[in-house]
Amino acid sequence: MMADLVLRDRFFKKYHGQEIENCIQCGTCTGSCPLAPYMDYGPRQLFAMVREGDMTEALNANTMWFCVSCYNCVVKCPRGISITDHMYSLKKMAAEIGIKPPKMLHLYQSFNAPVEKHGRLTDVAAMAGYSLRHPGAAFRNMPLGVKLAAKKRLEFKPRPVDNITGFKKVMEKAKEIERLS
Ligand code: SF4
Ligand code: SF4
Repeated sequence: MMADLVLRDRFFKKYHGQEIENCIQCGTCTGSCPLAPYMDYGPRQLFAMVREGDMTEALNANTMWFCVSCYNCVVKCPRGISITDHMYSLKKMAAEIGIKPPKMLHLYQSFNAPVEKHGRLTDVAAMAGYSLRHPGAAFRNMPLGVKLAAKKRLEFKPRPVDNITGFKKVMEKAKEIERLS
């Protein structure tokens, strides 16, 4: 429990999570979340757990990994809570302390790698990165890949953004800010 309270403190202070103390548990967020049926706990319940200090359970939930940043909940929350931002923070904390749903994390990393390199996503590079770690998924998605390739809907060759040097500088700056925050 002590470790849980330390984690809650970290979430409140380092990640500005204190705001969830304003949550009135109305459930509007969960009711408006398109992914709630697939989440272990909807946002309302997740925040209740965090407030109670049940951080281990909260950080092990799949909730934040299923969040697709649609902002439905944020628009409707009567207390103006930045729910989506807190989802990102909890995801970051979970990864930091070694609680990672590997498939989700690998998918995120596979999408991020080509973006960092070329400034934009290349479908094939992203899926290749993921398939190296999950060959079963590659095998299952093969028929879809063949169909997309036949319709010329797959981009095989990366097309870097015009000012890739500038883009990389922006990325470096963002990482620096993140390290200092
Ligand atoms: S909509 Fe806002 S106030 Fe209502 S439960 Fe969700 S976070 Fe809390
Ligand atoms: S931003 Fe995330 S938590 Fe909020 S409604 Fe969309 S998917 Fe659900």
